[in-house]
Amino acid sequence: MAFLQGLDSHIVVVGCGISGIGAAQKLLQHGFHNVRVLEATGRSGGRVKTGHLGSNIVEIGANWIHGPSQENPVFRLACQYGLLDKESMTEENQAIDVAGHPPFTATWLSSSGRQLEPELTEPVSMLYMTLLEQSQVFYRQGREPMPSVGEFIKREIRLALSDGRGNPVTAVLKRGVVNTLLKAECCVSGTHTMDDVALGAFGMYKTLPGLDCTFPGGYEGLIHQMMQTLPKGMVSYNKPIRCIHWNNSDGSAHHSGRTFPVLVECEDGDTFPADHVIITVSLGYLKKHHETLFRPRLPAQKAESIQRMGFGTNNKIFVELEQPFWEPDCEIIFLLWEDESTLADMVTDVKTLWVKKLFGFTVLRPAERYGHILCGWIAGRESEHMETLSEAEVKLTITQLIQKFTGNPTITPKRIVRSQWFHDPYTCGSYTYVARGCSGHDIDTLAQPLPSEGPQAKSLQVLFAGEATNKSFYSTVHGALEAGCREAQRLVTHYTPPAYQGPLGSKL
Ligand SMILES: Cc1cc2nc3c(=O)[nH]c(=O)nc-3n(C[C@H](O)[C@H](O)[C@H](O)COP(=O)(O)OP(=O)(O)OC[C@H]3O[C@@H](n4cnc5c(N)ncnc54)[C@H](O)[C@@H]3O)c2cc1C
Repeated sequence: MAFLQGLDSHIVVVGCGISGIGAAQKLLQHGFHNVRVLEATGRSGGRVKTGHLGSNIVEIGANWIHGPSQENPVFRLACQYGLLDKESMTEENQAIDVAGHPPFTATWLSSSGRQLEPELTEPVSMLYMTLLEQSQVFYRQGREPMPSVGEFIKREIRLALSDGRGNPVTAVLKRGVVNTLLKAECCVSGTHTMDDVALGAFGMYKTLPGLDCTFPGGYEGLIHQMMQTLPKGMVSYNKPIRCIHWNNSDGSAHHSGRTFPVLVECEDGDTFPADHVIITVSLGYLKKHHETLFRPRLPAQKAESIQRMGFGTNNKIFVELEQPFWEPDCEIIFLLWEDESTLADMVTDVKTLWVKKLFGFTVLRPAERYGHILCGWIAGRESEHMETLSEAEVKLTITQLIQKFTGNPTITPKRIVRSQWFHDPYTCGSYTYVARGCSGHDIDTLAQPLPSEGPQAKSLQVLFAGEATNKSFYSTVHGALEAGCREAQRLVTHYTPPAYQGPLGSKL
C-alpha cells in the first residue's frame, strides 16, 4: 500500500542532462507518474552537445564513451539504440583495457617548425605514463607522499632527467615533452594545473575495459533516443529554477488539498510543490549559486565539500583545413614549445600567452567522414580567457600557431568552431576533478540527501545526482547517468515495503 501511495509522490528533477533524463526514465519505469523535469535552457542533453562545422558534426561537449563494455550503462544504451558502428561493439574492442589512456598514434611538432624524432619523445612519454600510473596507486595504499599529482610527477621527472649527462638542448626538449603531456592531462582532468589535483585521490576514478569509441551520428543521438521514452510535456524548457525551499521552509506548500515539504521556485515566478527533488546541476553551478539556491541554506559540511571539490574548464577548438598536413595514420599532434625551460603546465601571462596552454590536436577520423578536421584542446584559466575572444581572434591565433609549428606560412584553416563551457551560465565550466585537499568523503557528502538529520531525516526531500556525485566515474557521461539512476532507485527503495524487497521487489 505504502508503495502504491509512493507512486503518487510529486517528484521534480532539476536539469535535463543525461543524469536528469536517466533519473526520470527510471522513475517512470517504476510507476511514478507525477514526475516533472525543469530545464533552464531550450534543449536537452546539457554537456552532451553535438554541433556543426560546415557540413560536419562535431562534439562541443562529450566526445567518447570511455570504457565501452557491458559494465558501462551508456555503452549498453548506445548498443540497444543501434547508435554505434560494428567495430566498437565487437567483443575484442570491449576487452581492450587501456586504463583510460588510449594508445594514439602521435606526431610531435616543435615551435621551431620541425617534427621531433620518436627516439626523443617516446622514452620521455613512457616515463611520464609510468609516473601517471604510479600516481593512481596511492589511493589504494591510503597515503599521499605529496599533495598533488603535478608536484609528484615533476619531482620524479626532475630526478630522472637530472643526471647531468647529455646534451642540454635535448634536456630542454625532454622537459618540453613533459610540459605538453601535463597540459594534456589538464584537459583530461578538467583542471587549470595538475598541481591542483589531489594525489591521494587520483586513483579513485575507475576505468572500464573497452577502447574508447564515438557516436558516428553524434552523441546527442543518445539523448534524442532517451527523450523518446519520456511522455511529451514532462520536460519544461527555458525554466531555470531560482530556489529550492525545503524542510517546509516556505510554510508548507499546498496543492490539490495536500501539503508538500518542498517548493521549487523558478526564475519566472512559477512554483512547483514536491515531495522530492532530484537536483542534477553541475558542480560549477552549485559552487556559484548554492548560497541562494537552497532555503534553508545547505548544511555547512555539504557547502564546504562543494567549495573544496574541483570543477575546471576544458574546451575544444575545431579547425577545418583544405588539406591535411599530417600523415594518414596520425591520430594526435602534440605541440612542444622550445622556449619553456622549466617544468610547468600553465603560462605566465594568460592574456598574451594563452595559446601555449593548447597541448595539441586530435585528428577527427575517418577522413572519409570528416574531411580534414582537427580538434585542439585547451584547459584552465587560459581556456577561460580564450572564451572571451571573438571567433575571428581565435581563428587568427590558431592559424599562426599551425603555421609556426608546421613551418608552413601558407596553411590557412577554412573555419573554426570552439566550445565556451566556462561562460555557459548553466554549466560554469566543464567537469569535476578531485582537488588538492579533497577526498572521496567530499563526494559522499555532496551526494547525501537532505535533510540529513532531525525528524525529517529519512524523508529524502532533496537528492543530489549529476556527474560530480559519482565517486568512481565523476567527469563522465556514464558517471552522470549512473548517478541519476542511483537517486531514482533511492526513491524506489524508499517506497518499497520490506516484504517486497526480495526477488519480487527487485522486479517492481
Ligand atoms: C568539453 C567536454 C568534453 C567532455 N568529454 C567527455 C567524454 O568524451 N566522455 C565522457 O564520458 N564525458 C565527457 N564529458 C563530461 C560529460 O559531458 C558530463 O560529465 C555529463 O554530460 C554531465 O551530465 P549531467 O547530467 O551530470 O550534467 P549536465 O549535462 O550539465 O546537465 C545539467 C543540466 O542542468 C541544467 N541546469 C543548470 N542550472 C539549472 C537551473 N538553475 N534550473 C534548471 N536547470 C538547470 C543545465 O542546463 C543542464 O542541462 C565532457 C564534458 C565537456 C564539457
